Amino acid sequence: MTNLETLGKVIETDILVIGGGPAGLWAANRAANLGQKVLIVDKGPAEWGGEAYMSGGGVTAIIADEYIDKFVEQIVYYYDGLCDQELIEGILKQSRTRLEDMQRLGYEFHTNPDGTLKGIPQRGLSHITCYIGKPFGEGGKKLVGVLLKEAKRLGVKHLGRTLITELLKTDGKVVGAVGFNSINGIFYIFKAGATVLATGLGGWKTSYGKNTATGEGICMAMRAGAKIKNYEFMKVWNVPRLFSWEGQTWLLPLGARFVNALGEPFMDKYSPVLGANTDPHYIVRAMAVEARKGKGPFYLDCSPMKPEDRELMQPKGGWMKINYEKLKKMGTDFFEQKLEWMPQANEPLGGIIADIKGKTAVPGLFGAGTVRNIETGLYIGGWHLGTTAVTGHIAGESAAEYVKSEKELPIEYEQVKSLKSRLYAPLGKPGISYKEVLTEVQNTFFPYDVMILKNKTSLERAIKKIEKIKDELLPQMSAADPHYLLKLEETKGTTIISEMFLRASLMRTESRAGHFREDYPDRDDRNWLKWIIISQKNGDLDLRTEPLPMERYKIQPTCYYMVNFSFPIYV
Ligand SMILES: Cc1cc2nc3c(=O)[nH]c(=O)nc-3n(C[C@H](O)[C@H](O)[C@H](O)COP(=O)(O)OP(=O)(O)OC[C@H]3O[C@@H](n4cnc5c(N)ncnc54)[C@H](O)[C@@H]3O)c2cc1C
Repeated sequence: MTNLETLGKVIETDILVIGGGPAGLWAANRAANLGQKVLIVDKGPAEWGGEAYMSGGGVTAIIADEYIDKFVEQIVYYYDGLCDQELIEGILKQSRTRLEDMQRLGYEFHTNPDGTLKGIPQRGLSHITCYIGKPFGEGGKKLVGVLLKEAKRLGVKHLGRTLITELLKTDGKVVGAVGFNSINGIFYIFKAGATVLATGLGGWKTSYGKNTATGEGICMAMRAGAKIKNYEFMKVWNVPRLFSWEGQTWLLPLGARFVNALGEPFMDKYSPVLGANTDPHYIVRAMAVEARKGKGPFYLDCSPMKPEDRELMQPKGGWMKINYEKLKKMGTDFFEQKLEWMPQANEPLGGIIADIKGKTAVPGLFGAGTVRNIETGLYIGGWHLGTTAVTGHIAGESAAEYVKSEKELPIEYEQVKSLKSRLYAPLGKPGISYKEVLTEVQNTFFPYDVMILKNKTSLERAIKKIEKIKDELLPQMSAADPHYLLKLEETKGTTIISEMFLRASLMRTESRAGHFREDYPDRDDRNWLKWIIISQKNGDLDLRTEPLPMERYKIQPTCYYMVNFSFPIYV
C-alpha cells in the first residue's frame, strides 16, 4: 500500500459505490444495513442525489402482486416483444416492498379520497401505473432527502466532486477504482472489496437535467470487460423550447395533447387508436414527419384537461414552481396557453448487462439503476425511480455477500501508475477545448435522420464523422485545470456512447419500439428477436447479436404496441 500512496490518496472501503443518485443511495443503504463499510463517490456535490434531485418523483411499481403477470404481459407488448421477461418480473416482485420502504422512510404519495395511492396509467396501458410523489414539482428532492437521511443514519460515507475514471482489476476481478477531484486535482485510489456502478445513463448535455449523465461510467465498465445491451434504443424526449418542465408522462394521460403549427392534434392521424395519450417516442417520430411536411413547430395544449387535473399538475415546489411563477410574471400561463415544445436527445436506454442479482460479467462489479440495462426501446413514466430502488437495493445486497465470500486482493502499482499518467497528460498542454469537440459530437448526433427517422445513409455518414472525432479531435483535447479535465473525460464518454448508438442502430435492420429505420420500417421477428451486445475488443467496439431465450419465457409475443402507429416512408 505504501507504494500506492506515492501516487495519490488511498482510501479503503468494503464497498465502493460509484454515483450517488437514487440507485447508488439504495445500494449503499442496503450494504450498510448488512454491516458493510460503504463509500459513495460522486463527481457532483457530495450529497446531491443525482438526477433524481431534479425529478418529478413519480414511481412506477406494482402494488398488488396479482398484477405482476399482467404488467409483464403489457410491457412485452409495449416493447414489441424485445423484453427481458425474467428480469422485469424479478424487479416487479420487489417493487411494492421498495415503494413501502419509501413510505416508511417518510416519502409521501398523492392519494385518492379513499386513501389508496393515486396512480396514473402510462402510455394507454391499464396495468402500468405511476404513483406521484408529494409535493408535485419537488417529489424527487423529497425522495433523495429521505434516502440521504437514511444513509446518514447507517453511517454511509460520501466523497463529492470526484470523477472516477477507471476501474482497477487484479486477477480478472474488480478491486476498486481511480479518479480525481475536479476542484483541486488530487488523485484518488479506492481499494474496495466490491464495487457498485451506479453512474446513470449516458447523455449529450441537453437541457433536461442532463449535465452529469455523459456515459463515462458505461465506458469504463466496458473497458473492464462488462457487456452492453440495447444501445440502439434512445430516449428521445419532448421538452419546452424556452424553459424546463417535467410531467408529460402525466399531462398526456390527463388529457393534454401536442398540436402542430396548424393547430391539428396530429397524433390522431398517426395513431387513431391511442391519439395523444401515448409514448413520447412515437410523438417525436410524428413530429419529425410533420416537420418534414412544413407543419412545425409544435405546441403542448393543456386545454382539454379537467380543472382538478390541472390543479394536480400545477407545481407546488422546487424548480418547476419557480419556472411556473416566472412564466406567469411574463404573462404566460402554462395551462392556458399553447407553448412550443420540441424533441430532444435525452439519454440512451441501453446499459451494462447485469443479472437479477446485479452481477455483471466482471467479478467484483455490480450494476445498479439506469447504468444497467433494464428497458428496451421505450420509457414508462416513473419507471426509473421504481427500478433504481429495486436494482440498487439488490446490488447493495449482492455486493455485501460478495465481500464476505471473497479474499482481499492487492492493487497493482504499475496499473495505477500508468492510468494516472494517461489521465493527467492533457492537463496544461496546448490543444483544443472539450466544448469544441462536444459541439461536433452534438452536431453529428442531433439531426432528426440520425436520432429519430434513421436510415443507412444517415447513420453511416454519422459514424464516419464520429470516427473522425475519435481519431483526430479526442487526442488533441487539452484541459487548463482539473475542472476542464472532468469535462474532457465526459466528452470522451459522450463520443463513445454516440458511436455505440450509431453502430447498433445501423446493425438492427428492422423497426421496433423506439428504434425506427425508414429503410426497414417493419418489424422482423424471424431475424431480429435478438439483443445487440456490445463489448470492447482490442480497443474497438465489438457488436454481436444474441437471440432472446424465448423457450424460457412465459409470454410468446403475439401483439405489438407499434401496430397502433403508421408513418409515411420517404426513403
Ligand atoms: C427533470 C427530470 C425529471 C424526472 N422525473 C422522473 C420521475 O418523475 N420519475 C422517474 O422515475 N424518473 C424521473 N427522472 C429520471 C430519474 O431521475 C433518473 O433516471 C434517475 O435519477 C436515475 O438514477 P441513477 O441513480 O441510475 O442515476 P443518476 O440519478 O443519474 O445518478 C448517477 C450519479 O452518478 C454520478 N456519476 C456519473 N458518472 C460518474 C463518474 N464517472 N464518477 C463519479 N460519479 C459519477 C452523477 O454525478 C450522478 O450523481 C427524471 C429526470 C429528470 C432529469
